[in-house]
Amino acid sequence: MDAADVGRDLEEVLLEAEDLDRRLGEMAAEIDADYADRDLLLVGVLKGAVMVMADLTRKLHTKVTMDWMAVSSYGSGTKSSGVVRILKDLDADIHGRHVLVVEDIVDSGLTLSWLLANLRSRGAASVEIAAMLRKPAAAKVDVDVRYVGFDIPNDFVVGYGLDFDELYRNLPFVAKLASRAYE
Ligand code: 5GP
Repeated sequence: MDAADVGRDLEEVLLEAEDLDRRLGEMAAEIDADYADRDLLLVGVLKGAVMVMADLTRKLHTKVTMDWMAVSSYGSGTKSSGVVRILKDLDADIHGRHVLVVEDIVDSGLTLSWLLANLRSRGAASVEIAAMLRKPAAAKVDVDVRYVGFDIPNDFVVGYGLDFDELYRNLPFVAKLASRAYE
């Protein structure tokens, strides 16, 4: 899928596929250096993190295992409330493991701060976060994101795993959705 396939649904491309690819390479190098002699479990948060997980892991040299969680955050419309329900839990027991949560985007931070507390309560040796995107202006809680791809403005974006109504996840870039696409 590319820009021509969605036409006027998009207002502006914020990050091209090449930007994402280059930054993921830098993040992978940092992660390789930080976890060189540790056993690392990557936890992808479905469904948005699928693209980041697939591309980031293929750039890593460190041996990793991968697991997935799906959570739903109760809220009104596109806003998260911080009240989270687990839709799919991890297969792995993370007690004593070094965990790196892989996320598509940190918006209010409410979902991630809940997830961090949940994973830490299971006795993980460490829990850190890698997020492709972060919206600093939307932060409601302070979440320490160890690896950040890009800080972006407080707009609703789609592509590279991020959806609107389950659509646009398969765009290879990140774009601002035009209001005419949802109004
Ligand atoms: P938070 O709890 O940080 O407010 O919400 C995080 C989740 O909200 C993300 O994992 C993502 O699913 C969704 N989200 C937040 N901002 C955006 C956005 O700009 N576009 C899309 N498609 N989803 C978003």
